[in-house]
Amino acid sequence: VASLEAKPEPTQVVTGSLTIGGGVCGVIAGPCSVESEEQIMTSARAVKAAGATALRGGAFKPRTSPYAFQGMKEEGLKLLAAARDETGLAIVTEVMTPTDVELVGDYADVLQIGARNMQNYRLLEACGESPAAVLLKRGMSSTMDEFLLAAEYVLSRGNERVMLCERGVRTFESHTRFTLPLATVPYLHARTHLPIVIDPSHGTGVASLVPPMMNAAIACGADGLIVEVHPDPPNAASDGPQSLTPDAFAKAMIACGKVADAV
Ligand code: PEP
Ligand code: MN
Repeated sequence: VASLEAKPEPTQVVTGSLTIGGGVCGVIAGPCSVESEEQIMTSARAVKAAGATALRGGAFKPRTSPYAFQGMKEEGLKLLAAARDETGLAIVTEVMTPTDVELVGDYADVLQIGARNMQNYRLLEACGESPAAVLLKRGMSSTMDEFLLAAEYVLSRGNERVMLCERGVRTFESHTRFTLPLATVPYLHARTHLPIVIDPSHGTGVASLVPPMMNAAIACGADGLIVEVHPDPPNAASDGPQSLTPDAFAKAMIACGKVADAV
């Protein structure tokens, strides 16, 4: 279903304020985790002012350590919904288990399937039965065929609003958190009609590397970006080192606009 043989024209995913694909570039921005009302509202207003078209924020967090902050759960979802009510921004947030799909779908516009769950087939099927759009992140050690087949699990259950997200892969290299293969964008555009979103935040793990990779993603034809932005990165509950300040994000968006105009 994902292939260009099945559908030659690009898919455009539209949900609320967010349009991604078919010549329209969407920008999803916000903190890694929802931490408080003030933090998510400040973030939402800032990313909207800078030109983001959707708000991200994790309420259910897949953390490497069980002792790390696990997210605000349903309370976080309620804060995201309040941020949508105030700003009009569509909400993108992660769902970790099949049993939470209905709950998260009640609050969110886009269900994010995290890298660690790309091959959680029951979760993929449950998202395939949801009316919400889906942002499927590539597993950090997954091949392109595995990535596309994971998307098939969602599509084959009837949900056509699937976006693919390259968020970096595991390599021997350690100067960045992951290695961000931007060739994924033109490669997947030659194989699938689904929109391709780049996550330069997890892809690098380093805030100073994020703006240049946003530009590069636009230059190679990405249909969208998902960028971590936090009002106070040093004190973020998760992923502070890769989070842009609102100011840095606003500057990066201006630069990206120039790249988009040039390509
Ligand atoms: C995230 O978006 O904060 C996240 C956990 O991403 P990934 O699943 O790509 O690690
Ligand atoms: Mn994160």
